[in-house]
Amino acid sequence: FFLAVEGGDGAGKSTQVEALAEWIRAKGHEVVVTREPGATPIGKRLRSILLDVSSAGLSNRAEALLYAADRAEHVDSVVRPALERGAIVISDRYIDSSVAYQGAGRDLSPTEIARISRWATGGLVPNLTVLLDVSPRTARERFTEAPDRLESEPPEFHDRVRSGFLTLAAAAPFRYLVVDAGQEPEAITTVVRHRLDQLLP
Ligand code: C5P
Repeated sequence: FFLAVEGGDGAGKSTQVEALAEWIRAKGHEVVVTREPGATPIGKRLRSILLDVSSAGLSNRAEALLYAADRAEHVDSVVRPALERGAIVISDRYIDSSVAYQGAGRDLSPTEIARISRWATGGLVPNLTVLLDVSPRTARERFTEAPDRLESEPPEFHDRVRSGFLTLAAAAPFRYLVVDAGQEPEAITTVVRHRLDQLLP
């Protein structure tokens, strides 16, 4: 079972990923928690290129391909092997982040970004994607560290990213759970657990 957790910066993804992993492990499953970008040794190098403020000016297409390269490595070396041995994989970000950030955010074609991602992953689609939806302004108040290259983008960029995510969720409601991420973390976990209870093996 493959669960992706998506949302803008500061939506609380990592908190939810940890809480859900703990709950699923307590049910007796093997859980692999992973993330994009940067889950593999090559991915960590790509992540530092992608997020460093010194990469300002990176071309939009090059950026999209670097995320796709990170994802290809991630799927081949982490996600697929774990799924094949029956583990439950929870990924903090996946394809939708590219469609939302590099597609809707940067103004590349979301369809093309989806196509590159499909190729990069060999067509691996999550069983469920949890979209933590929150206004970029609320999310910003949660930042504790210095903003990275993407977090430094203007509010309009993050508004486009948010709409990009919501458009994806609206197109395939059976594969998505959209949660109001302005709520308390415990309330969010409860909503997601309820949906997972119906889906997990
Ligand atoms: O979720 P995390 O903070 O690890 O993501 C790192 C940064 O990469 C974030 O600022 C996010 O906006 C950006 N990102 C992106 N496109 C992706 C995935 C992440 O711009 N496909």
